[in-house]
Amino acid sequence: MNVAIDGPAGAGKSTIARLAAKKLGYIYVDTGAMYRALALYLIWKDVDIYDEEALSKTLDRANINIVYENGVQHVFLNLQDVSAEIRSEKVSIMASKTSALSPVRNKLLDLQRDIAAKNDVIMDGRDIGTNILPNAEVKIYLDASPDVRAKRRYDEMRNKGEKPDLESIKKNIIERDHQDMNRKLAPLKRADDAVLIDSSYMSIDEVVEEIIGLVKKVQ
Ligand code: C5P
Repeated sequence: MNVAIDGPAGAGKSTIARLAAKKLGYIYVDTGAMYRALALYLIWKDVDIYDEEALSKTLDRANINIVYENGVQHVFLNLQDVSAEIRSEKVSIMASKTSALSPVRNKLLDLQRDIAAKNDVIMDGRDIGTNILPNAEVKIYLDASPDVRAKRRYDEMRNKGEKPDLESIKKNIIERDHQDMNRKLAPLKRADDAVLIDSSYMSIDEVVEEIIGLVKKVQ
């Protein structure tokens, strides 16, 4: 069983996908974390991302692993746990930029398809229903208004003890969506057969239950 969840930044995809996967006994695959880890590596290496040869060579040296410990996802980049580091705004902005490049997407495409071929998965991202798993049994496009999404990200950062600025978060989210929706390669869009869920005024549990209901229908 393959469940694809796509949608813009901050729509709640990862929280919801993780909970639904746990309830269903499926593996949760956070593809955004993979793009973030590659972006972090490119920041570390300070490569000119528009130099294709340098980019490809650098990507060849980046190994990404997603590991679950007590239900918590850890992202390893060349054996280093970068789970916290990949959540910074700097990495968010870089990931949105580098995810538009074909060497970056190609590196992750096979990895993602391979995991989905071998496991029951809930995979979230931007192009899962349209490009990575076009035959997924269930496809969801999870959306929410920009204000709600910015506020969620703001609350998340405050809970971590950070001092975020709501307006700049909103600006970054809108900019990221624009880049993700307008790039040439695998842009973010709702697949024709994806169910649209607007989570703006829904609780996390309501969204999770709706998704589980959709999965049960085709099981
Ligand atoms: O979902 P998350 O915000 O962690 O994703 C970070 C960035 O990775 C997105 O802004 C997007 O540019 C990119 N991404 C992508 N395709 C995916 C998942 C994420 O292009 N399937």
